[in-house]
Amino acid sequence: MRNKIVAGNWKMNKNMAGTDALLAELSAKLPNTHAKVMVSPTFVNLAGAVRQLEGSEIEVISQNMHFAESGAYTGEISADMLLDIGIKTVILGHSERRAYFGETDEILKKKVEAALANNMTVMFCFGEELQDRKSGNHFSVVESQLKNALFDLDPSAWSSIILAYEPVWAIGTGETASPEQAQEMHAFIRKTIATAFDQTIADNVSILYGGSVKPSNAEEIFSKPDVDGGLIGGAALAADDFIAIIKAI
Ligand code: PEP
Repeated sequence: MRNKIVAGNWKMNKNMAGTDALLAELSAKLPNTHAKVMVSPTFVNLAGAVRQLEGSEIEVISQNMHFAESGAYTGEISADMLLDIGIKTVILGHSERRAYFGETDEILKKKVEAALANNMTVMFCFGEELQDRKSGNHFSVVESQLKNALFDLDPSAWSSIILAYEPVWAIGTGETASPEQAQEMHAFIRKTIATAFDQTIADNVSILYGGSVKPSNAEEIFSKPDVDGGLIGGAALAADDFIAIIKAI
C-alpha cells in the first residue's frame, strides 16, 4: 500500500533560529493525519532539526547528497554522514539541482544507487520544462528521466523510492498544473513503471505532485486518484500554509 506524504522542500531558506521557530510552530500545530509529514532544512540545520523533532511524527529529510562514500569532494555530504545524524530519506534530482548544479540523469542514477545501497529512502524528483509541454514531448521527457535514473534498479529497491513529479514550469512560478494535468501525468508514470517492472510496484509507489501547491489548490490536486501527496516549496516556509496543506490531504 502506498503512503500519503506531504513534504516541505525548504531549499536555501531559514537560518538556525528560523529553522527552530518554524519546527516549533509546525510541531505545535500539527494536525492528526494519516499522511507522513517531512521537512527538509538546509544541511547545516539538519542535525539540530533531528534533535528538536525527536519523538515527533515529522521526519527530517535531506535536500541532496553525494554519491561517493567519502573522499576528495569539497563541499559535499555523504549518505553515511546523513545516516549518522539520523536522516533516512534524501531528495534527489530536484530541478534546481539539475538546472543550476549540472546534475544529469547519469549523476542522479549514481546518487540514487548510493542512497539505496546505504538503506536510505529516495524521494526522486523529475518533470518536464515548459518547452517540452508546449511541444507535446512531456510524456517522453518524463519517461526518459525515469528510465535513465531508475530502470536499472532491482525491483526490490522500489519499496525505498518515493517519486515527486514536478513540472519545472510550475515550480516557484505560482502556476500550478491543473489537477487534471497532474492526474494524467501521474497515471502515465504509474503505467510506465508497470510496464518496466510490474503492476504491484506501480500500485505501491507513492507519487507526489510538486509545483506551486498552496492551501487554495491542495485539496483538489490531492483528490486525484494517482496523486499521493505533495512536495511543497514556498508554502512549506509558513507554518499555517504548510499545516493547511497537510489538512487538505
Ligand atoms: C519545489 O521546489 O519542490 C516546489 C514544488 O516549489 P514550489 O512549491 O514553491 O513551487
